[in-house]
Amino acid sequence: MKSLHVAIVGAGPAGSSAATFLAQQGARVTLLERSRFPRDKVCGDGCSPRTLWMLERLGLGALPGGTEAAPVDSIYALSPGGVVLEEAIPPRFFGGKASVIARQVLDERLVQRAVQAGAELREGVRVEGLERDGNGLLLRCRDGEPLRADLVLGCDGSPSVVRRALGAPVFPEREGAFAVRAYYENVRLSHPRSLAFFWEKELLPAYGWIFPLPEGRANVGLGMRADHLAASGAKLPELMEKFCASPRVAAELAGARRVGKVKGHHLPYGSFAHHTLFERALLLGDAAGFVNPLTGEGIEFALESGAFAAEAVAEAVAAGDFSTRGLGGYARRWETRFRTAFRLNRRLMWAFERPHLLDRIFRAANRSAHVRDEFDDLLAGEATRISWRFVAEVARGG
Ligand SMILES: Cc1cc2nc3c(=O)[nH]c(=O)nc-3n(C[C@H](O)[C@H](O)[C@H](O)COP(=O)(O)OP(=O)(O)OC[C@H]3O[C@@H](n4cnc5c(N)ncnc54)[C@H](O)[C@@H]3O)c2cc1C
Repeated sequence: MKSLHVAIVGAGPAGSSAATFLAQQGARVTLLERSRFPRDKVCGDGCSPRTLWMLERLGLGALPGGTEAAPVDSIYALSPGGVVLEEAIPPRFFGGKASVIARQVLDERLVQRAVQAGAELREGVRVEGLERDGNGLLLRCRDGEPLRADLVLGCDGSPSVVRRALGAPVFPEREGAFAVRAYYENVRLSHPRSLAFFWEKELLPAYGWIFPLPEGRANVGLGMRADHLAASGAKLPELMEKFCASPRVAAELAGARRVGKVKGHHLPYGSFAHHTLFERALLLGDAAGFVNPLTGEGIEFALESGAFAAEAVAEAVAAGDFSTRGLGGYARRWETRFRTAFRLNRRLMWAFERPHLLDRIFRAANRSAHVRDEFDDLLAGEATRISWRFVAEVARGG
């Protein structure tokens, strides 16, 4: 590993995770980031139990707590017809503990961890292109010298410069969403230890969230599939105002103040993410489209893809083969772990856009522990199928 130079473009969760694991294995790692830390990233800031498990694997287990992270252990969800689904996060999901951590904090800790492990961080460097150069790759950077590397990991989110330079197709519109979020302070939530999700009838197929943050703050946001958004002609910031004014959300935010602007970003869904593997290059995280289509969660998949990439690079080094074949362990790993779940959730999105069906699913989940378990698996991106029993229970109505 010592003679291997890996250039990682983007120091978000995917880039910092890959940098940490690769540096720990002894590789020379250069992490290129266009921003300077601490930097903001538009996100809901929700860290699932699997995200916390990945943080532990990265040596950041002690992070959640104090004034930086709000511990969360339950889900509170409201269907369009007003059916409430409230439950503890099942312990089978990595102990059932989740957290909300502002990305300004989380991403800085992650990048510090990568540097501590031995990666070299170059901030304020924007990569603009990539070329093949003999037995390596050459990264073109704005206002800087080109950088030569044996391997390049594209961790530059969506849209990704590396993805485009490698010739991978842009994500089709139906394979993504747009979402906005704003921070609030002086918030007094009815469920301060819950991740709260709202499907408002008038705003479907958009769905919104309120996630608690420490010291009376909250992350409030709303997302919608890109093709539906384009077809409706609606503007997300306007939908966000409607969301915040809807009675159930307005009650949660009574007396609260918005701080800063409403900011938005694209979310790519990975249900058909074939293009992650190239000669001497891999795509990770959002650049690969690793986002759960039902919830928009992507941090855990970004972190995991970093671990998968590091394992696959070690195999390629051992075999002396950096072709797509030699790096093939990367695709095998992520496909085994989340490809089926992404595809299933992508197919189920239509159900989450139909108010009566959502009401039925919520009612069935309240009635049957079996339905609730399967629903939890779907939301967590852990389900590989839905059972006939689930379908029958939902069809039963009531
Ligand atoms: C509104 C919204 C809410 C969300 N809520 C959640 C949530 O609650 N929980 C969850 O798990 N996920 C959520 N997500 C998804 C999550 O934000 C992403 O999946 C996650 O950030 C992906 O991590 P990443 O490292 O792949 O990319 P990013 O976090 O986007 O990091 C990419 C990095 O690359 C840098 N970069 C980009 N281009 C270049 C370049 N040319 N040169 C150098 N550097 C570059 C960027 O500055 C950035 O630091 C949400 C997304 C949105 C938009």
